[in-house]
Amino acid sequence: MSDGPWNAVLAQPAATAALRAALANDELAHAWLLVGPAHVGQVEIARALGAALNCPTPAAADLGCGSCSACRRILADRHPAIAALEPEGAFHRVDEVRDWIHDVSLTMTEGRRRVVRVIAADRMNIPAQNAFLKILEEPPPSVVWMLEVEDDSVLLDTVISRCRRLDLVPFGPEALMQRAREWEVPAEHQEALVRASMGLPERLRDLADPDVAAARWRHLAILDRLATGGPGQVVPLAKELVTWSRGRAVPLKEKHARELAEKEEEFGVEGPRGWPPGVRQRLVKAHDRLEKQELRRSLDIVLDDLGSYLRDLLAVQSGAAAGALVNIDHEAALYRDALRLPAPAAVRGISAVAACRDALDRNGAPELQLERLLLALALPIYATSA
Ligand SMILES: [Zn+2]
Repeated sequence: MSDGPWNAVLAQPAATAALRAALANDELAHAWLLVGPAHVGQVEIARALGAALNCPTPAAADLGCGSCSACRRILADRHPAIAALEPEGAFHRVDEVRDWIHDVSLTMTEGRRRVVRVIAADRMNIPAQNAFLKILEEPPPSVVWMLEVEDDSVLLDTVISRCRRLDLVPFGPEALMQRAREWEVPAEHQEALVRASMGLPERLRDLADPDVAAARWRHLAILDRLATGGPGQVVPLAKELVTWSRGRAVPLKEKHARELAEKEEEFGVEGPRGWPPGVRQRLVKAHDRLEKQELRRSLDIVLDDLGSYLRDLLAVQSGAAAGALVNIDHEAALYRDALRLPAPAAVRGISAVAACRDALDRNGAPELQLERLLLALALPIYATSA
């Protein structure tokens, strides 16, 4: 028998078997704790589970058919049976948690049971966890909670004890190569991009996008540009990096503009006036939040690229073999730049990348924070060449 939607869950046989057994025996827990690195199958598990629970013509109790309208929409994340709660900032706040609980506990108008992913549940602070605990104590029958954590030590024992635990394992190179093929990475780039993903499926998914793969080459040439272009490069380069990142959020902005226009039509209004109280504000706020997240995600791509390059510089400087590099397709450039940026400066550069992330977490202006980072990289290069 085919494994249907479960086929999309790569390299997690233990977790998949435990969930499918629970479905087959009609012993599905209301809450599951998925412990493991991000993006190693959490999405696919939620979809396969959602399909099994909501398919009108299931192949078995643990298996949605994968081809009916409900299954297809669930597998494409376009069905109310699948929901994901993501922290807005560094933490899940208690008022957000209360809002979600209210929203997802509402009776479903479509489908039978909803699978709700709580992304980065280990970023719930104690008040948020206590709010969440209330729902675990009296779980609404129509919801299956999937708490995704990398580190379960920060969760309250009372939360952990109400969940069934599933351990997810990190992806090995083979699972990543399979993903690269599924995401249509050109064959000649698969090996290099799997290496560049540093074992992170999420990063590989970004790199599978030709726009991101092309931008990576520009990001990895930042040191060269600073070295050859002089200090005058810092400000325009920072601007370019942020412009690229903002550009990545444009499709989402357009989608949000369409959503707003559709709502206006629904309410028979034009512009911001005449909406039911609070509705427009809430929608715009939600849009802003998602657009900010998208921008941050793109800035993280820049920082991941640059950080991996600096890491490789250190590896080259310490005499590591070419096989130990993350950016195996940039070997020549790395040997060249290893002479331009001394090891202590590369170490400080890696700290500067981390400091830039922290500043962005605290809502620092992207242009200014990137300028600061580029300056920290540029100064030792000029000191060496002077
Ligand atoms: Zn189906």
